Amino acid sequence: MTRRLIIIGGGAGGVLVALHVVRNSRELTTLTIIEPQQRLGEGVAYSTQDDTHLLNVPAEGMSAYSDDPQHFAAWAGCAPDAFVARHRYAAYLRSELAAAVAASNTVHVQHVCDTAVAISPDPLHVTISTGTVIDGDALILAVGNAPPTSPDWVHNFATTRVVNDPWAPRALDAIGAGDQVLCIGTGLTFVDIALSLARRGVRVTGVSRHGLLPMAHAGFGALPALPAAFATPRAVLHWIRTQPDWRAALGALRPATQHIWQGFTPRQQAQFLRLARRHWDIHRHRMSAAVAHEFAHMQATDAIVVRRGDGRQLAESGAFDAVVLCTGPDDAALLTTPPLLALANAGVICPGPHGMGVDTDAVSGQVKDVAGSPVAGLFTVGPLRRGTLWESTAVPEIRDQAEQLATLLVG
Ligand SMILES: Cc1cc2nc3c(=O)[nH]c(=O)nc-3n(C[C@H](O)[C@H](O)[C@H](O)COP(=O)(O)OP(=O)(O)OC[C@H]3O[C@@H](n4cnc5c(N)ncnc54)[C@H](O)[C@@H]3O)c2cc1C
Repeated sequence: MTRRLIIIGGGAGGVLVALHVVRNSRELTTLTIIEPQQRLGEGVAYSTQDDTHLLNVPAEGMSAYSDDPQHFAAWAGCAPDAFVARHRYAAYLRSELAAAVAASNTVHVQHVCDTAVAISPDPLHVTISTGTVIDGDALILAVGNAPPTSPDWVHNFATTRVVNDPWAPRALDAIGAGDQVLCIGTGLTFVDIALSLARRGVRVTGVSRHGLLPMAHAGFGALPALPAAFATPRAVLHWIRTQPDWRAALGALRPATQHIWQGFTPRQQAQFLRLARRHWDIHRHRMSAAVAHEFAHMQATDAIVVRRGDGRQLAESGAFDAVVLCTGPDDAALLTTPPLLALANAGVICPGPHGMGVDTDAVSGQVKDVAGSPVAGLFTVGPLRRGTLWESTAVPEIRDQAEQLATLLVG
């Protein structure tokens, strides 16, 4: 009998799962990837065609194969520590998937270029926007983060242009030289968008409650040895602060982060999020040195200004021609919109710890229902596992999850 697997979401996470399923499967399998974007592998992160939007991770951190860390660098023909244009990563994933499919005589892969609008868990099937129903034996949710939600007050603007999704194709085209633009949010998305705008003579102001910018990548030496255990989040933060090089400290923590997170009580996890989330994010998710250098230059010439404050107040000041939302994912929206809404209403899926992602088994990523029981045939990969694992956003972790999931499903 042919096994039927469905993946909802054909960004990096979905393609990595598909790739490892194809390479591992010895039985006849049909693999359906439901993804509205024409090109697989892009998702939110790798769809930009701007050559100056670089990966935030050196090439040696982006391999599709955990046992061959230099694979992506070799494919891209670059040094292991190079930061490659982001769209090349999507091209890499597509080319690896195509090669695996060509070499497989058991797996048939099809890309359904559409959006999944509903999921039935039993019997398992997915309905797409045309009404077509796709039956499966297992379903992998690889939908990434919930998109940011626009705050209500942006709808008040009659004349100011509002860009809700700066990564949408041609989203910034209407903004021209001399325009004053306010970006809400000062994370990695802001850095890319602000530079793209400033290069064409736009005056950019970025604002966030904390006014904190991501730190820059830089080389570091040997990783320090980790203590045997951390009793509390404060102990982790104290340990980082007392290391000679915080980058090396974070590098040492990285492979242990999921384990440390799961060792904390829910209360301690909440304390970490309250105390340290923003500082963790800007140190952990860094920009390349070249991007940091250009950004500093733009700041020095006032082409880009970063402020701490209330975005709404600034937006309503009338000083800006356009407002661009560079805010992060809206976790609260994840289960209130299709395709997860009906599952959530039926108690088949529920929010993950601290409202991040969905509740899943820590090892397999299998969805847990409202009673905490595993839901047969329903799995997750990537940012949906953030509440359970905390570190579940970037390629190394997603790649490992994809390999493990493929082994579980077809290995
Ligand atoms: C701007 C940016 C830059 C980044 N740079 C890096 C980097 O350099 N290195 C790194 O390791 N990580 C980076 N990341 C982290 C990134 O989250 C991961 O690397 C990875 O791309 C996540 O992939 P994903 O497939 O889980 O999610 P996404 O990329 O968000 O893909 C999810 C896909 O699901 C699809 N989808 C959603 N809902 C449905 C539906 N109902 N039906 C069908 N399809 C659906 C979407 O269309 C999308 O294509 C970056 C993130 C961002 C936002």
